Amino acid sequence: MSATSPQDRRRLIISVCLLLSVLALSLFNQKTSSAKAPDGWQWITCDVGQGDAHLVRTVEDQVSLIDTGDSYSDLEACLEWAQVERLDAVFITHQHRDHYGALSELAESYPIARLFTSAHFDPAQVPQGIELTQLASSDEYIPELSLGTDAEVRVLWPPDSLDRVPGEKGSSALVNNSSLVLHFRVGGEQPLTVLTTGDLEEAAAGRLLPKPENLEASILKVAHHGSRGSGTQLIGATNPALALISAGRGNDYGHPHQVITDYLKQHGVSVVRTDQSGSIALEQRDHEIVVTLEGQ
Ligand SMILES: [Zn+2]
Repeated sequence: MSATSPQDRRRLIISVCLLLSVLALSLFNQKTSSAKAPDGWQWITCDVGQGDAHLVRTVEDQVSLIDTGDSYSDLEACLEWAQVERLDAVFITHQHRDHYGALSELAESYPIARLFTSAHFDPAQVPQGIELTQLASSDEYIPELSLGTDAEVRVLWPPDSLDRVPGEKGSSALVNNSSLVLHFRVGGEQPLTVLTTGDLEEAAAGRLLPKPENLEASILKVAHHGSRGSGTQLIGATNPALALISAGRGNDYGHPHQVITDYLKQHGVSVVRTDQSGSIALEQRDHEIVVTLEGQ
């Protein structure tokens, strides 16, 4: 008697794909220890331990990186898995080392064409010789950047003035809440839509809720490694089919928090985690999001 909505079917397909990926992994585990990401990958969430690093690729092979993590060796392993040789753009969401710590080493080894940071990132932390653009958003103006013919990103947060970012002056919460929130649309007729949220905490997330139409995405990079302090409202507003969580194996912070993972489970959102699966590659194929796991 139960009707199946398109959304439910989409979730089911993703779940099936996830299951197949895991099965493939278990079947070919020995052979895939040196495997590369699938040729058609459009999005990769890198396993950089406790931190964030994500890759997005256009149809003409333009590659952008969102955050670097703090471990260059982990990031480098992911770039090699993805077979990336240069970066057309790098975005840094906020000034915590688990998001930008590997930037200087990265710049020594990989050409970086453009660098974008939160408006509240200290430019002195940027390696010399890279063109820097600082990004902010407002109620009246949401910047939109083209990353190539089939990829666009809209900058939803932070506001230009630090006074409008929730958090005590000098606090870690203020830095988290100054994170870039980016909405990606990647691909042609059936694009992947991905919302990335840095380490945004609940107070800042609340500022985005009045315009849920800006937030909707099929894929959500869960804020702050699944920390409880980011709350669940942003997840509800995004209404994703698939949630990506980047967290270190056995990390000291208890990330992701069970409140977050329970919420995702209760709302039928498929979850993939770097602490369980290593790096994660996504590709939109027909009406399916194909998920390929690197494994550990
Ligand atoms: Zn973080």
